[in-house]
Amino acid sequence: MDFSFTSEQDELRQHLNELLDAVCPPEYAEACDTEARPPRDAYQALAKHGWFGLIIPQEYGGAGRSPIELAILLEEAGRHFEELAMWLFRTLTYGGYAVMLHGTRAQKEEILQRVLKGELSFCFGLTEPHSGSDAAALTTRAVASPEGYTINGQKVFTSGMDISDYCLLVTRTSSTQTKQQGITNFLVDTRLPGIEVRKVQTLGQRAIGTTQVFYSDVKVPATAVLGVLDKGWEAVDAYLWYERLCLSAARTGAATAAFDYALEYAKTRNQFGRPIGKFQAISHKLADMKAMLDISRMLVYRFAWLMAQGKATRSDAAVLKLHTAETYKAVSDMGLQILGGYGYCMEYPMQRFFRDSRLAVIGGGTSEIQRNIIARGLGL
Ligand SMILES: Cc1cc2nc3c(=O)[nH]c(=O)nc-3n(C[C@H](O)[C@H](O)[C@H](O)COP(=O)(O)OP(=O)(O)OC[C@H]3O[C@@H](n4cnc5c(N)ncnc54)[C@H](O)[C@@H]3O)c2cc1C
Repeated sequence: MDFSFTSEQDELRQHLNELLDAVCPPEYAEACDTEARPPRDAYQALAKHGWFGLIIPQEYGGAGRSPIELAILLEEAGRHFEELAMWLFRTLTYGGYAVMLHGTRAQKEEILQRVLKGELSFCFGLTEPHSGSDAAALTTRAVASPEGYTINGQKVFTSGMDISDYCLLVTRTSSTQTKQQGITNFLVDTRLPGIEVRKVQTLGQRAIGTTQVFYSDVKVPATAVLGVLDKGWEAVDAYLWYERLCLSAARTGAATAAFDYALEYAKTRNQFGRPIGKFQAISHKLADMKAMLDISRMLVYRFAWLMAQGKATRSDAAVLKLHTAETYKAVSDMGLQILGGYGYCMEYPMQRFFRDSRLAVIGGGTSEIQRNIIARGLGL
């Protein structure tokens, strides 16, 4: 067993951090959050420096690297600005990984090379008003027509739809005995007639945020199908495992940023003639935060390694998502307490971590659902 990164991976992380320090400093992240502005310059800088090609196979011009390098990219992007990492992960998962796994030759040639150059952004339309945790109960329908398919229905919480070129849209194409059957995935051009996007006001994730999307007689060509007709649910499952790695890496990075800020504050804020970090009530919080974060990081890279070996299980993915999300939430909460009244003020960054981290235990499968999956794996 070897817990160390290779020197190449260390160098990769170092180069990435040099770039992110320059294009995504803390004040940039704060401004994007306050002004509800997507971190476009930082996103484009990552594309310009080739980071979108990290996981794309070499035959399509990418670097063809493993989930471990992907986790490094998302951890560091998340440490600089969680929403930058979220934008990056959506494009890499739904425009990169999904197309690599299930795209036709033509889709791969068209899409992967444009993702690589930062020309395309992707989002994911799974959740509907009546199917959240019970995601396979979705009812958005795609009906075959002479020109391709016609889509009708409603999605909610499609994050980044308003800034994406394509949505990986999960639809029902036939009524079958089980809800997991008869599902088909499409790569839908977000600017097609019949699509209406409405922004949803949320507690956090304000720079990009999320949307409600209405599909009314949206016509897509048959070439927009991704993967096998009626067999889309298995594919969604695979994307969600990948998503769990990406989310967990990004949020471990964000939690690390919250921890670093709280630690520095505890060393420099004086009360009763000494730094507050000298009070056991504060130092033990920081010790707990450090221990939880160390476990998060180990789980992220263990899962990345398991994925690279083709050995990851559903339960591994759920343990990862559960622990890293709950850690981010707990670390931001303790961080806010360490800052006292200043933690509650909008001029300090801790409130952003606190707001953003609240989504971690909900989005991408709630903590309750992750516990259900783990329990099922235990035969319960
Ligand atoms: C800001 C934001 C961004 C998002 N981005 C996206 C996105 O880009 N794409 C997308 O498709 N979706 C997205 N989502 C949707 C997200 O994945 C869902 O909100 C989540 O899966 C929960 O679904 P729900 O909100 O309908 O809650 P519900 O499923 O209604 O759950 C409500 C409560 O009941 C609990 N519950 C439900 N079923 C069970 C059960 N069987 N056992 C125990 N407890 C249960 C839940 O854990 C939760 O506490 C986003 C959500 C938010 C808020």
